[in-house]
Amino acid sequence: PLPTVAIIGRPNVGKSTVVNRLSALQDAIVFNEPGVTRDRTYKPAFWRDREFQVVDTGGLVFDDDTEFLPLIREQALAALAEASAAIFVVDGLTGLMPSDEEIASWLRQHSVPVLLAVNKCESVDQGAAQAAEFWSLGLGEPFPISGIHGNGTGELLDALITHL
Ligand code: GDP
Ligand code: MG
Repeated sequence: PLPTVAIIGRPNVGKSTVVNRLSALQDAIVFNEPGVTRDRTYKPAFWRDREFQVVDTGGLVFDDDTEFLPLIREQALAALAEASAAIFVVDGLTGLMPSDEEIASWLRQHSVPVLLAVNKCESVDQGAAQAAEFWSLGLGEPFPISGIHGNGTGELLDALITHL
């Protein structure tokens, strides 16, 4: 089986956009699993000589929980359990949010390698500054990227494949 990369982050940071950017295919492959309400979406991807699959997950929310949020969290946990690596997507336009810190501390409790992607950094001039504040999450180097425009994804993928 292909190594799996879990895409994790709070809602609206651009996870699905990043998945589509990283994947070679437009159509998602959806697996139905008994007991899992929100299906995880798997998409094939490759970079240089490595093939892998990216798994989109519902947004993780730790604040203001409503009844469906434990199911989203269950999805993220299931995706992480089978993953060789995770890409934690944060939003460079909104900047660091309290729920990013909660997700980061949750990720640090798992042994899976985490790449930190600061999305919505279209401006190459501002991207480094937008990304810098995310060093405080304690997950290593923040990679400024744009899921929409594609900039920065090469550097992110180069770092990612060292873990696959
Ligand atoms: P998800 O909820 O984390 O899966 O986020 P989506 O992929 O659905 O994107 C949420 C919103 O952010 C949408 O309005 C996207 O168009 C926007 N978005 C996603 N990626 C980027 C990006 O690289 N730059 C900008 N400016 N907006 C983005
Ligand atoms: Mg999404």
